Amino acid sequence: MLDNTKDLLKETYGFKENTFELYERALKDCEEQFKIYDEIREFNQMKVLKAFQDERISDSHFTNSSGYGYDDIGRDSLDKVYARIFKAESAIVRPHFVNGTHAIGSALFGNLRPGNTLLCVSGKPYDTLHNIIGISGDENIGSLKEYGINYGQVDLTNEGKFDLEGIKKALEDSSVRIVHIQRSTGYGWRNSFSVKEIGEVISYIKGIRNDINVFVDNCYGEFIDVIEPTEVGADIIAGSLIKNIGGGIAPAGGYIVGKKELVEQAAYRLTVPGIGGECGATFGLMRTLFQGLFLAPHIAMEAVKGAVFCARIMELAGFEVKPRFDEKRSDIIQAIKFGKANKLIRFCKGIQYGSPIDSFVECEPWAMPGYKDEVIMAAGAFVQGSSIELSADAPIREPYIAYLQGGLTFDHGKIGVLIALNNVLNN
Ligand SMILES: *Cc1c(COP(=O)(O)O)cnc(C)c1O
Repeated sequence: MLDNTKDLLKETYGFKENTFELYERALKDCEEQFKIYDEIREFNQMKVLKAFQDERISDSHFTNSSGYGYDDIGRDSLDKVYARIFKAESAIVRPHFVNGTHAIGSALFGNLRPGNTLLCVSGKPYDTLHNIIGISGDENIGSLKEYGINYGQVDLTNEGKFDLEGIKKALEDSSVRIVHIQRSTGYGWRNSFSVKEIGEVISYIKGIRNDINVFVDNCYGEFIDVIEPTEVGADIIAGSLIKNIGGGIAPAGGYIVGKKELVEQAAYRLTVPGIGGECGATFGLMRTLFQGLFLAPHIAMEAVKGAVFCARIMELAGFEVKPRFDEKRSDIIQAIKFGKANKLIRFCKGIQYGSPIDSFVECEPWAMPGYKDEVIMAAGAFVQGSSIELSADAPIREPYIAYLQGGLTFDHGKIGVLIALNNVLNN
């Protein structure tokens, strides 16, 4: 680090020398890991480039449709580019999905019918799915449950692995139609599932019941590995465009990729039966969505490098982290266990102070709908709530774990983490 940088950090945030010492050590320790991710990034960049070329993307695909949006060639071609990247039959990529939760909800509602069961085999799914399923404890109005769709759950083992015996038993229920797997950790203390592990459990499931469709919640996972869940047997997957795959450029949206008939059923839930993905004006957003996708392999790895660096420096500073800096990753999330509420809060406040937007804001723990405990959220993003941008959040409960993710540039990731750590150590 240049003295110029150090001077600026000292002047702005009152940095002490101990933070810089940890910085140099952490960065050095991570070199080997960075090389691994650089190579994955290079492959994924090539994969995305080839998909653009194979679809012969040109200026004429940056459409600006209005009204019904019939025959929007940009929109329809972006679907095809996504399908190529994921080696899937079909895709629907839309700014009309308000977020990842909406895309996931469309995939589930579209492909389940009354009397069917949704079986979640990676434990309780991400918080925002609870209202969709009807397990939030609220009234569950409009949920799958209200439509007569049942829910089953197989928890992970104590080691955070799939419980194969438990899954086998749950599959005896002939009403199971869709198995749900979550790639990322969410607010858990486990490692994310590699695409290989996901493939193994899918083979196991299909070996028992080949009439079942497997859905993978791919949020935070795109481009972290050289393969995606659709290449190892997932029938349908979904994610958010304001995470990895939007490249920090997409202003909103979600995607669903998979088998043609399953994606079509999901599209009928995004719009209505008979319309599906054939309507939907894109309001001049197509260039942005293409450009974000093109940048996504790079941006996702900027975020991963920030997470790896964070894991190492926080560990050197004496905190337990998951995953460790040299463990294989399948998402961009870094969990840090603080053990004390005040340290956790200072870390999150530091991430906020180090943001380009709203750096002057004090983030505070607050009661949020859908959460039992107070939650603190640090985010100063160009796209509201975008978590491919540097952000950190945590429920205020023991053992006080913060979840850090994103960073559009590795430099900002490093600096943000340094500011947060300095705020923990020297205040
Ligand atoms: C972020 C996330 C979601 C929901 O995405 P939103 O865009 O916030 O609605 C679902 N599942 C997982 C694992 C996520 O990380």
